[in-house]
Amino acid sequence: MPVDSPLVPPPAPPSGLVIFSDPRFAAHAPASYHPERPRRLDAALRGVERLGDVGRVDRPAVFARREDLEGVHAAEYLDALELKLAERPGYLDPDTYFNDATQTAAWLAAGSACALVDALIDGDARVGALMARPPGHHATPNRAMGFCVLNNIAVAARHALKRGLKRVAIVDWDVHHGNGTQAIFEHTPEVLFVSLHESPLYPNSGYAQEVGQGEGRGATVNVPLPPGSGGVAYRQAFERIVMPILSEAAPELLLISAGFDAHSRDPLANMQLDDDDYAWMASRLREAAGESARGRVGLFLEGGYDLHALEFGVEHALRGLLSHADDGLMPRGQDPSAAFALSAVLEAQRPYWKSLKK
Ligand SMILES: [Zn+2]
Repeated sequence: MPVDSPLVPPPAPPSGLVIFSDPRFAAHAPASYHPERPRRLDAALRGVERLGDVGRVDRPAVFARREDLEGVHAAEYLDALELKLAERPGYLDPDTYFNDATQTAAWLAAGSACALVDALIDGDARVGALMARPPGHHATPNRAMGFCVLNNIAVAARHALKRGLKRVAIVDWDVHHGNGTQAIFEHTPEVLFVSLHESPLYPNSGYAQEVGQGEGRGATVNVPLPPGSGGVAYRQAFERIVMPILSEAAPELLLISAGFDAHSRDPLANMQLDDDDYAWMASRLREAAGESARGRVGLFLEGGYDLHALEFGVEHALRGLLSHADDGLMPRGQDPSAAFALSAVLEAQRPYWKSLKK
């Protein structure tokens, strides 16, 4: 050890927050009005700025390597996608446009998902956020859909397993069911997938009885909630299902598919969350990640089509991940239609989770 070591300053503590984003995401743009538009990301990044001084580190996006994607998507899909994206702008499915910047944006989003996981595992930060477009959670192993091209959060979870983690949890609070993420991991017990979503709604999947397949049974948890559900319903879902299951699963890393389209202002859905509800959910997930995951949480931007809801939702969610949210003013009580929906989830999941048996 060098004699002057007492004078060497100690290494800086990990920054609170690492953000991955990139101006190149803006060039993935529709030819005419479409709700999944570049201004969404501007709004989300304004939400990040509103956090002020939280020890934030900004990192540029990085391209995905083929091997990162092949852990999630079929090789034939990736080949066909690259050919298609080189054509004149058009559509990959009835909802999912592409232009000459889509390949760059999609590959940067998925590559940054891996870089975010590396930053969390290597201790660069406790909380990371991928502020990217296009979103990912509807993209299946072999299909682009619902504005999504590559499944960024699934690429991240697969990368975490490759880095040696044994248990990863994905909580998807986007208002739409994360059908792509479910399809990718429904046979994989190492990845717990929990989706809270409005039902019925696009993509018309995510019923309580969908619990995973084969060895993965019980590692897919669908929590469909009726249209109009708000903070009370989500609170009930967290207390009765999400928190007990996360505690029992003890993930080593927690990833959030964070859409902001369950916000009351969103034009594409009918839920009633407000900004404080996002802070509350994030704060609970921060708690859930506290012990087994050493607090490591990654937030991935998915949907959310009202710019105000995006800006303030992102700000509140990140605040909830960085510090305890005071829930003294949160709504109390019971939502009877949510309770009915949750009883179906409890019935479907009880065989797999001791914590639900009481
Ligand atoms: Zn959505």
